[in-house]
Amino acid sequence: MNASNIQDKLADKTRPVFTIGVASDLIGMSVHTLRMYENEGLILPRRTETQRRLYSQVDIERLQCIRNMIENRGFNLAGIKAMMSMAPCWEIKGCSDSDRAQCDAYDHALEPCWVVKTKATICSEEDCSECPVYHEVTTCHNMKSFLKEHWKNV
Ligand code: SF4
Repeated sequence: MNASNIQDKLADKTRPVFTIGVASDLIGMSVHTLRMYENEGLILPRRTETQRRLYSQVDIERLQCIRNMIENRGFNLAGIKAMMSMAPCWEIKGCSDSDRAQCDAYDHALEPCWVVKTKATICSEEDCSECPVYHEVTTCHNMKSFLKEHWKNV
């Protein structure tokens, strides 16, 4: 592998490289809390073939945002999920009208799209942990920037 390949890999913030122990240490959150956030659908660590969780830089930033919202802004988990549900996934994925009509994420405002049970065909076979919707809506600040950019010309 040449130096350029290594640089590309290091620059890819979506690359899952941190074990749960390392992620816990980096963020200063317990392993139990990381698992709870995953069960709540706030975070989607990738899994190895042996089912070990691996976290990316995007996941670490998301976890830092979640902690900030809980500790400094008075959010609870339900509030954070509702905020994440506002991401216009149907725009990012380019869903057709018929996809939107089939998908709970288009109308529901209680949980992120990757948690909803009934998804449009376009998403039903996807691995949400690799989806741009999950990667792009990383933090509160990111969400607002994304919405501004997206609707600037509408
Ligand atoms: S693939 Fe998953 S994360 Fe991406 S838009 Fe569909 S439901 Fe959301």
